[in-house]
Amino acid sequence: MKKFLNYLFIIILIIGAFYIINNNFKKEEKINKDINIINTAESNQDDVVYFAKGISKKDYINTINYEATIVKNNYKYNPIVYNFGNHLNYSELEKIYNKLNSSDIVNLNIIGTTVDKRFLYSLEIGKGNKTIMFESGTHASEIANPLFITKFMIDLVNDYEADNQDIINLLNNYKIVVLPVVNPDGYNTYINGINSIKNKNLFIYKNRNLIDFDYYKGNLNGVDLNRNMPSQNSGLHFKRYDLLNTVVLKPSVNKMAYYAGEFLGSESETKALIYWHNKYYKNIYAYITLHSSGRVIYSSKPNLSAELNNLSNKCAQIVNNITGYQVLGADYEEVGEGNDGTTTDFIAELLSGYKFSEITGRLSYGKYDEKMNELKYKACVINIETLESYTQDLKIIKDEYYNYNLEKVFLNLIKQD
Ligand SMILES: [Zn+2]
Repeated sequence: MKKFLNYLFIIILIIGAFYIINNNFKKEEKINKDINIINTAESNQDDVVYFAKGISKKDYINTINYEATIVKNNYKYNPIVYNFGNHLNYSELEKIYNKLNSSDIVNLNIIGTTVDKRFLYSLEIGKGNKTIMFESGTHASEIANPLFITKFMIDLVNDYEADNQDIINLLNNYKIVVLPVVNPDGYNTYINGINSIKNKNLFIYKNRNLIDFDYYKGNLNGVDLNRNMPSQNSGLHFKRYDLLNTVVLKPSVNKMAYYAGEFLGSESETKALIYWHNKYYKNIYAYITLHSSGRVIYSSKPNLSAELNNLSNKCAQIVNNITGYQVLGADYEEVGEGNDGTTTDFIAELLSGYKFSEITGRLSYGKYDEKMNELKYKACVINIETLESYTQDLKIIKDEYYNYNLEKVFLNLIKQD
């Protein structure tokens, strides 16, 4: 009898443990059934030179059918205090995202794992259907933006939990989806140094003596994640243009080089972005990416519709009105010179109704360099370049947030309609 009770006790323990684990990490249901894959490609493929292969159909389907992990916890929400008093390394950011997640207004998802085995997080804040996406931390040295957007989320959730009626109304009507750090390995290496790289076989660690990490952009495989997205013009140049001399064809120690990867979508961080874009794009009214070079706003996609560009210009004006950051138009964009494949290229093409072509391994629309007239899903797509330049200096970072009123920028972009 005693033996039986012991067994029973152990079984109850196992069931209990299973229940707890199950409660904390639940797999998300597959989201995307409308896969939009075509087996046709641009009719004028002879006009372009490819320098990077596309992503395979199998990889692409697996990527958009990724099952994100829904993180749950049962802690009581405690207000979080952060005012740029210290750098936050990536594990400190992770703690903050988990703390935010104890508010009922937040859903935390793990949407992938980096090449150096760190989790990639997406936070949903708000219960509304009107959705806006924010993404930052793609480029390793641009550490300010993950701090800005994290500070913004902290204040938002603190206010919500403190029963601030304006914020409660806001979050009942909108959904703010944030991927705060696209490149956690790069972010963490920039803050904590080269020895914080766990896998010593990765390109950046092996070449640590050759690389000037002062302004490093890529991930730890040496890939610029903002050139690795399989947008229509990524990894190719039009024959009438020379390839830009900043583009390189293999991982490079040159800090200014753009390397698009062995093939598009090759990096685990890029796959997370592809999944994340596909999950939300049909419901968004704005997509905001944050970088750090020179207080300007890129708001134009010369190869896409006037409708998209008009919406994007409106979003850019909201930012300009508050910050004075300069709005840059089509003259500042290169298309077909080997420099495409950014996150904004990819989401803008999804919004425009482009489909994935299994022939090119990229999004596709009939013809290279052909303009479409209509935007299928109505949203703006802008890139805000905060700061004069990337910096580690916390005083400069804090001053940018307050002097340029970035909290108001984010709030006004959310409330624009
Ligand atoms: Zn950047």
